[in-house]
Amino acid sequence: MELSQIKPSSSSSTLPEKCMICNRTAHGFHCDVATCKGCKTFFRRQLLSGEEAKCVLRKDCYDLTKRREPLFRCRPCRFQKCIYVGMNPLALNFQARTTAPNCEENSFKTTENLIHDVVGMLLHLESKVEKFRKCSYNPDWKEIDKIQSLLSSTNKLSMADSYGEITGWPIKSDSRVPLKHNYFQTYYPKSKHWWFFNLLTLTEYVRTFWFFDSLDLQDQLLLIRHAVVGITLFHISYFTIQRSCQYLTQPDGSQHPHNTMPDYKIVSMLVDPMYRLKIQNEESLLLKLLFVCNPVISG
Ligand SMILES: [Zn+2]
Ligand SMILES: [Zn+2]
Repeated sequence: MELSQIKPSSSSSTLPEKCMICNRTAHGFHCDVATCKGCKTFFRRQLLSGEEAKCVLRKDCYDLTKRREPLFRCRPCRFQKCIYVGMNPLALNFQARTTAPNCEENSFKTTENLIHDVVGMLLHLESKVEKFRKCSYNPDWKEIDKIQSLLSSTNKLSMADSYGEITGWPIKSDSRVPLKHNYFQTYYPKSKHWWFFNLLTLTEYVRTFWFFDSLDLQDQLLLIRHAVVGITLFHISYFTIQRSCQYLTQPDGSQHPHNTMPDYKIVSMLVDPMYRLKIQNEESLLLKLLFVCNPVISG
């Protein structure tokens, strides 16, 4: 399905005029994406129904490079496009919805169903996180002056599509160049400042959970401060063992921090236990969630 026409604009803080799914007038950001009211409601209903229908046509009913108007009757293609443009199911408040009285959309009756759906959403979120780490967005840490301004801006995870995937990875070991201000230190021009970028990524990850917005600013800051470093170390450790690497590895193939650094032992302490326990993907997703839903954060 050719969907190149729906790449979001590079500035996601201003609302695009058109719904990224059907091209009608956008109404606001819903689940991290600019959509019309119709597509917003559609996405929520579709997730709650759990319907798994298949397109009976050519699977391109919402490909606006092939037609001027989408075929609204095709729900599978519409839902596919919602996912493709990056709508985030975790932004929906499922728990509240499923326990609300007289809720016509109440279809998550059992705990088992609920867990199944939460895992599905976490898998989807994980793919967004990895896409973001591999995108060409590579800000200078000085650009983001305060965590408060980050928290009040549009979540950056949905910007990965507009930036596109970075090229030239994995980086070659002979592509190091000297730093401008210190000739004896070198860096890879195509690499990211991984400490900063990973902390930024996992901060945005925490912000995607529906309850985050309901916290006041002080509690948001408290949660970020207590959770994000742990989640970041957990994330890069699991990324490392998924690729069967010996040392902490980043998406560009670089080792960061390098195992010769004095703090390496501390930041890599999760790698060996993860190998030993043969931790599975779903387990890692749920364990990471515990960092966010930690009831004993003091303050
Ligand atoms: Zn729409
Ligand atoms: Zn279709």
